[in-house]
Amino acid sequence: MVTKEKPKTGMYENVQNQFNKAADLMKLNPNVRKILSITNTEIVVNFPVKMDNGEVEVFKGYRVQHNNALGPYKGGLRFHPTVDIDSARALATWMTWKTSLAGLPYGGGKGGVEIDPSKYSQAELERITRRFTYALGDNIGPEHDIPAPDVNTNAQMMAWIADTYMSTKGPLERSKNQHVVIGKPVGSGGLEGRDRATGFGVVVNIKAWAERNGVSLKGKTFIVQGFGNVGYWASYFMQEEGAILVGVQDAKATYYNADGMDVATLYNHTKLHGGFLKGYEHAQEIDPKEFFGIECDICIPAALGNQITEENAGMIKASVIAEGANGPIDTAGEEILLDKGVHIIPDILCNAGGVIGSYFEWLQNRNGELWSLDEVMEKLEKKLREAHQKVHMTAETYKTDWRTAAYIQAISRIEMAYLQRGIFP
Ligand code: GLU
Repeated sequence: MVTKEKPKTGMYENVQNQFNKAADLMKLNPNVRKILSITNTEIVVNFPVKMDNGEVEVFKGYRVQHNNALGPYKGGLRFHPTVDIDSARALATWMTWKTSLAGLPYGGGKGGVEIDPSKYSQAELERITRRFTYALGDNIGPEHDIPAPDVNTNAQMMAWIADTYMSTKGPLERSKNQHVVIGKPVGSGGLEGRDRATGFGVVVNIKAWAERNGVSLKGKTFIVQGFGNVGYWASYFMQEEGAILVGVQDAKATYYNADGMDVATLYNHTKLHGGFLKGYEHAQEIDPKEFFGIECDICIPAALGNQITEENAGMIKASVIAEGANGPIDTAGEEILLDKGVHIIPDILCNAGGVIGSYFEWLQNRNGELWSLDEVMEKLEKKLREAHQKVHMTAETYKTDWRTAAYIQAISRIEMAYLQRGIFP
């Protein structure tokens, strides 16, 4: 598909810059480089849905499949106005690196619908989700391409996707397809702990960094951009470690309190206020532009891409940035941060807890097993620490930054698969 539209976020350019830097340094095989420089398949669907008032609206949805050399395409679906072909390409490519780095038998894909879900009723969202699933048809599948939650999508939507997809199969095939989508409610084949897996993984990475540097998280201050699934759970686990949340921002408001904000109180507030922080009383509301300049030790961007750019990278006080979001720092922003000596735990490592949790849910469904929460958390931490250690070693070997090291580690695994198998015909 060729698009002439101007990209809304310009995220794909960042991925290409990151990829080229790593490919040069590791001297990636030139043929493999050509293959990985572009996506395998790009699916765009326009689908009609009847609204509550009886009128029909047509929505645009995407699923981009970047690479499946290591296994089925894997990655989330987001419902957001910034969803376009450029962001879907970028996010799909990041998934290829993320699953490879985590040592999973998956490739990378991503998609979503260009929509502001807050403008639709629950019944409309159900019809949109189901009709989008139907429009994708067998472009997704439990052994082919496996979606999961992402920005503004949740367990309920995953249950609708599973039900719709399974309903399109014959009676004897239906139950074999439960793992077509991951992140389902626990009562519908979901995994205990999948909800907290990404936020937990962010904190495991921060802890591993802290341990290596001989520092304790107790009393350390942190700020979080985004208070959705990732931002909330990352804050929750940081607070459990004794760290203090001094700044928080979502799409509608930014709050600051040097003495700290209680994560559970904030969470309860959002539950009573349509999912938003606005109106929170135990902190000072500040100008959103001041957010990244808040005095703190650790910064956790856990919202959208391209939030830290050359405009605000210079004001960051934190010595560590843990990327809960995908692509929160653009190329120019990253250069400024690296020059300042800020340590960046890159997205493909830092937020990999989510997709590792997805792998566990997939295995659970595929093998007809039920895993306990303790078992999940223990296995998750082990896999995350292994990936963290690999990136650390690669950064030392190549004397490079952690993002480039993470890419080298991820790409090497895919390169090896291509070199072993060759190219058909
Ligand atoms: N949306 C999450 C991510 O960006 C999870 C994807 C998945 O589990 O497939 O990593």
